[in-house]
Amino acid sequence: MWIITQALMVLAMGMQLTGCTTVRHQLGRVLISDETEYALGAQLAAHIDTTQTSLDNPNIQRYVERIATPLVELAQVDRPGATYRFTVLDDPTQVNAFAVPGGFLYVYSGLIIAAEDEAELAGVLAHEIGHIVGRHSANQLASQFGIQLLSAIALGEEASKYAVDIAQMTAQLSSARFSRDDERQADRYGLRYVVESGYDPTGLVRFFEKLGALEGGKRTSVETLFSSHPATEERIRDIEARIERSGIATGQRNAQRYMRETAVLRR
Ligand SMILES: [Zn+2]
Repeated sequence: MWIITQALMVLAMGMQLTGCTTVRHQLGRVLISDETEYALGAQLAAHIDTTQTSLDNPNIQRYVERIATPLVELAQVDRPGATYRFTVLDDPTQVNAFAVPGGFLYVYSGLIIAAEDEAELAGVLAHEIGHIVGRHSANQLASQFGIQLLSAIALGEEASKYAVDIAQMTAQLSSARFSRDDERQADRYGLRYVVESGYDPTGLVRFFEKLGALEGGKRTSVETLFSSHPATEERIRDIEARIERSGIATGQRNAQRYMRETAVLRR
């Protein structure tokens, strides 16, 4: 018991120095070990893999991994030892991506269709990686469902007993809103990975602006990404200001290659 009290005292001290986001970050770290987070994520990912259809196209799966590889390598600095797995889900009506604890990242084919170059997709992927680095998905589930339940599911015993909870958690992950602090932090990690990988840093902002323009006509297809990662004016301004300060306003887009590699989805 005193260990918990001790930890809370340390956290309380940290709070004065560093503000709430960092505390929540540390809290997640204290309460859920990397091992538990990964084991929990593996259970949730197994559920997603059996209830949703992954895209039956190894070329596109590999292409997404290729775009993500340099981003993942850079993310190792901020969260050493984390592993990432990318899965494209087959649903052209969903313009969405989401991060399951433990680094299991999902992108819907609708998002790949909506993007027009590698920098746009890299921006979205880097943002999702940022949610893993910041432990946002794990923390969000912990605050909603409680540590005990997460740990029980992570242990994998009597999976059938927790079937309803697992279904609720996975539904939560693909549609939940993160806090403004979490979004900002994921943007900042993501932007750094994109810039240092040599991609055009304006990709994420261009993608959001395009979705904003689309939103009027095709509301249902774009609202998911906005509701789970709301692209507020404030967020976009923050990203733009950071791009300006970085002095790196351009980079690789590889639009032709992107359209060629993903053409089969647009037929
Ligand atoms: Zn987000």
